[in-house]
Amino acid sequence: MTPGRVTMYTCGPTVYRYAHIGNLRTYLMADWIRRILTADGNEVYHIKNITDVGHMRQELVEAGGDKMIMAALEEGKTIQEIGEFYADCFWRDETHLNILPAHVFPWASQHIPEMLEMVGTLMEKGSAYEAGGNIYFDVNSYAEYGRLSNNFGGDLLEGVRAEADPLKRDPRDFTLWKAAEPGRDVKWDSPWGEGFPGWHIECSAMAHKYLGERFDIHTGGVDNVFPHHEDEIAQSEGAFGNRHVNYWIHGQHLLADGAKMAKSAGNVFLIEDLATRGFNPLAFDTCV
Ligand SMILES: [Zn+2]
Repeated sequence: MTPGRVTMYTCGPTVYRYAHIGNLRTYLMADWIRRILTADGNEVYHIKNITDVGHMRQELVEAGGDKMIMAALEEGKTIQEIGEFYADCFWRDETHLNILPAHVFPWASQHIPEMLEMVGTLMEKGSAYEAGGNIYFDVNSYAEYGRLSNNFGGDLLEGVRAEADPLKRDPRDFTLWKAAEPGRDVKWDSPWGEGFPGWHIECSAMAHKYLGERFDIHTGGVDNVFPHHEDEIAQSEGAFGNRHVNYWIHGQHLLADGAKMAKSAGNVFLIEDLATRGFNPLAFDTCV
C-alpha cells in the first residue's frame, strides 16, 4: 500500500447483454468510493474489466455453447461485434449516471496469454491439475478457501453441486482452463490443447497485470462473493503467495417489486426505461 495512492479493481460488465440498473447500482457504489477517496486527497487508479469470453458455466455448456456465441449466431454478427455493441451501451449508461470512466477497461479476450501464464504457474506450484484436457484448481492446496464467503462444509458443497464433474478430485475444485468441445469456434491454443478460460481466472490475471500482486480495493456485486471472488483469491494467492486484496466491497442486490432484480425474475429495468418513465438517470444516482 502506497500512502496517497489507492489501487482499485471492479468486476465489470459481461458484454452479451444490457446492464440493468441493479448492475449499474454496483458500479455507482464503486464510483462513490473512488470519488470519496479522491476528495480525501488520494490518487485512485481504477481498473474495470470487460468480460467478453463467456462464462464457463455448466448450464451453458449443457446448452451447447455460451450466450455470447448464441447471441452472435442469432443476430448474424461476429462475437467481437456483439461485445463492442454491448460495451458501447455500458459506457453510455455509465456516462448517463456520471460514473467516472476507469483508467483501463481490459478486455478478457485480449488477455488470454496472461491467463495461461497464471494457470502455468499454478500447475508448477502444484495448485492445479489436468484431467481430460481441463485444468482444475486444487482447492485442497489452499488452506484458507472459503474465508471470504464464510462458505465452508455443507453450504459450500451445496453451492458446487450444480457443477458436479466426475473429472474433479474434489467437488469444490473449479475450472481454470476448459478443453474445447468439437465444433467450438471461440478457442485458443494452450500447453494443454485448444480450449478457453474458466470465468474466474480473467480477473486474477488482469488484476495482476494492471495492479500487481496485491492491491487495495476490489468491488463487485454480492453475487460475485461466491464462487467468483472466493476462487479469485485462491488463484492469486496460490500463484503469488501474497495477500491478493486488502479490502473487498460488495454491492447488495437491488430489489424491484420486492424481489432481486434479475432477468430470470422478469423485473429488470434499464437506464432507458427510467427515461421513458420521465426520470432523469441522474435521479437514480441520488436515490439509491
Ligand atoms: Zn471478476
